[in-house]
Amino acid sequence: MAAPQEAGFRFDNSWARSLPGSFLPLPPDAAPQPQIVVLNHALAAELGLDADVLAANPGWFAGGSLPPGAEPIALAYAGHQFGGFSPQLGDGRAHLLGEFIGPDGARRDLQLKGSGRTPFSRGGDGKAALGPMLREYLISEAMAALGVPTTRSLAVALTGEDIWREAGRLPGAVVARVAASHIRVGSFQFFAARGEVEKLRALAEYAIARHDPDLAGQDGRYLAFLDRVIDRQARLIAHWMGLGFVHGVMNTDNMALSGETIDYGPCAFMEGYAPGTVFSSIDRQGRYAYANQPLILGWNLARLAEALLPLMGEDQEAAVAVLNTALGGIAGRYREAWVALMRAKLGLAGADAGDGDLADALLVAMAGQGADWTLTFRRLADAAAGDDSSLRPLFADFTAMAEWLPRWRARLAPEAAVLMRAVNPAVIPRNHLVEAALTAAQEDGDIAPFRALLAEVTDPYRDGAREPFSLPAPQGFGDYITFCGT
Ligand code: AMP
Ligand code: MG
Repeated sequence: MAAPQEAGFRFDNSWARSLPGSFLPLPPDAAPQPQIVVLNHALAAELGLDADVLAANPGWFAGGSLPPGAEPIALAYAGHQFGGFSPQLGDGRAHLLGEFIGPDGARRDLQLKGSGRTPFSRGGDGKAALGPMLREYLISEAMAALGVPTTRSLAVALTGEDIWREAGRLPGAVVARVAASHIRVGSFQFFAARGEVEKLRALAEYAIARHDPDLAGQDGRYLAFLDRVIDRQARLIAHWMGLGFVHGVMNTDNMALSGETIDYGPCAFMEGYAPGTVFSSIDRQGRYAYANQPLILGWNLARLAEALLPLMGEDQEAAVAVLNTALGGIAGRYREAWVALMRAKLGLAGADAGDGDLADALLVAMAGQGADWTLTFRRLADAAAGDDSSLRPLFADFTAMAEWLPRWRARLAPEAAVLMRAVNPAVIPRNHLVEAALTAAQEDGDIAPFRALLAEVTDPYRDGAREPFSLPAPQGFGDYITFCGT
């Protein structure tokens, strides 16, 4: 009996229609034995999709069949990777199946990652292992629950094929990703590097129509669009910083103009506060370290501004000047977003000119103390309610904190503890638990720890007994190292 086909996808593939020269049409590889490992029922419902029909069609997710209306393509893009420019990257192991319109009227991309080689694969096999695809699912869903703009994960499916990695033979898998779009800084760099100004213009118009339609047709819209991207990205990176999130590979091809977090590779959450925290095995210089992320934000957006330059009119000198002015505002915009976020995290009443200094002073008091980032904020809520006994043991030496607390208490909002518990998570994806869950799934075929962890990280603010999910890695866990492109 044929599987039912009407899942409720209303495809309308505007990228393929609007941007010739920026993609290649080609289908995902056929999976020998497609099997869904995890399906996001809540997201399916939100998107107006019938989860039973999705579940009945594992080939849609692992490769081998397509939902009606999908027109798979691999996108071309360029990008600066660790500061070095590659004029041609592109979807080397991903296929954009198309865009579908949800019940809210919003257009979203449906993309498979790990779905086979494309002309953009370079040396890669076009495949992905189960562990990293489950990592993308877990972290993106945790981020969504934490209120961070992010791509979502609809499913992870096994292909039934083994792949080879340094670790040996691993089960091949695909993640189905849902995104506001896959327009990257690197998408603009691709046409700019080739000097294809009309295609660059078409991409800019497309991006504006998709993300900032109110700007369409206006004079000065490219600059206004850059300004919107700056605003979205500044707020996004502030969100990451507030959570101790380290993306790990903030290359320009991994920065989406939608303002969503994209590409969960070597990402991880910082535990003990240390500005230089790096997890990625390949980031030896610490380019994408925790505290560098706001600087890389500016660097990446400067690359976007450069790519937009050919669209900015005849007088290029004047164009450089206005773009520089826009770029010069990034640090301030980021700071504003960060201070606003810290006000909420710290439960402050209204806004005061000294709030940024107060937040900075907290970081100074935390530095070198090994204090867990997440637990410090969560337990500050207890301290706001008058009890700092849970906070004290997080610090090797509490002297600096003891000096800081009265300054903070003087600024507290009424009901601060309640407000703080609604924005400071009790549970984040703890590295040791993520690792254990992925290992169990990938090596032993046991998905239960992954499901248990997923349930916890997608309910991050709930009070109550949340051990072991709320606790940092035990002493013996050591430095956490992550790997990308796996
Ligand atoms: P990333 O920085 O991890 O987002 O990936 C950078 C580029 O490498 C992208 O163009 C990917 O499509 C490509 N890539 C990563 N892993 C593979 C793989 N196993 N096979 C082919 N291409 C890959
Ligand atoms: Mg990428």
